[in-house]
Amino acid sequence: MKKSSFSKDFLEKIKAILLSEKIKISGELTNNPDTDGQFPEYGDNLEDNAQEVTDFLSKKPVEMALERTLRDIDSALKRLDEGKYGICKYCDKPIDENRLMARPTSSSCVSCKKTLLDEV
Ligand SMILES: [Zn+2]
Repeated sequence: MKKSSFSKDFLEKIKAILLSEKIKISGELTNNPDTDGQFPEYGDNLEDNAQEVTDFLSKKPVEMALERTLRDIDSALKRLDEGKYGICKYCDKPIDENRLMARPTSSSCVSCKKTLLDEV
């Protein structure tokens, strides 16, 4: 397992950005009673469970995007804690610091991202 080679200052700055983003997005989600991020619960019988899934899938795209961003932030924070932050998940090389500052949840470097996009 590789250790990230970023300075402590840089990593603390990133962590502060991620945490403030997380608070902001959590706030946006909890402001809306439909979007507490919890799977709705109606009961235990099969029909009720089917209804839960339908409700979960019918969430608005903007809420889905917020929840996805929240998950990205959480996984970035986890990588920070594990000392693996800023390492490209594809090529195992450090990601450019400017890219991380602009998009702290990045988990792949510019060239891998480009390769992936070109393939689509
Ligand atoms: Zn890469």
